[in-house]
Amino acid sequence: MVIRINNSSIKAQLASYLSARNELEGGLYLDKEIIDALRGSNNSLQDFEKSISGCVKCEIGKSRTKFVFGDGNENADIVFIGEAPGHDEDLQGIPFVGRAGKLLDEILQDFGFTRKEVYICNILKCRPPGNRDPKPEEINNCEPYLWRQLELINPSMIVAVGRIAAQTLLKNETPIGKMRGTTFLYQGIPLFVIYHPAAVLRNPHFRENVNEDMKKIKAYYEKLMKE
Ligand code: URA
Repeated sequence: MVIRINNSSIKAQLASYLSARNELEGGLYLDKEIIDALRGSNNSLQDFEKSISGCVKCEIGKSRTKFVFGDGNENADIVFIGEAPGHDEDLQGIPFVGRAGKLLDEILQDFGFTRKEVYICNILKCRPPGNRDPKPEEINNCEPYLWRQLELINPSMIVAVGRIAAQTLLKNETPIGKMRGTTFLYQGIPLFVIYHPAAVLRNPHFRENVNEDMKKIKAYYEKLMKE
């Protein structure tokens, strides 16, 4: 059973209780992540990024150039989540900076968002070679990092960018054409789905759908900002 403790005073008491038992009993074995959570470490995005950026749980961790953690406002109300870094992202360590990224920037700009205002990241933090789809074990290894990232950012809404991001977050196999236009809940947070800009580059007529979806997303965002 896993119990989540958010109260910092209880966390501190538990940490000193465990350290006293550790001294008395000469050893108590807990995962480093649990100790860090109890100590209140990794409570900022930067600390968390530092703590995971050496990850080599997957083969793609060994072949990456750079770990691509995320970019933007660490207190963003809206987070855009893509699939995985591509060639340019892998080189620069920043999500969505290649051709698809430039189009995402343009879409954001068209709807009055800036990269500084929003937060952008991916399901996977390392580039799958040849831009293949993420493997299930890679998602299993990397998704908990995204959960913690979202916990720290605490956004009010999420946009899944593309089919893979949407299906991974929503744990379904629904075609993206059926998901876009619907508002879902992801861990209690409203989640919207848009076509991936790479798909728009391949099928320019999707741009109209993206504009339609972004219009709703912007309206929802503005309503939130007024609350
Ligand atoms: N595609 C993605 O899904 N993410 C990136 O960062 C770049 C391209």
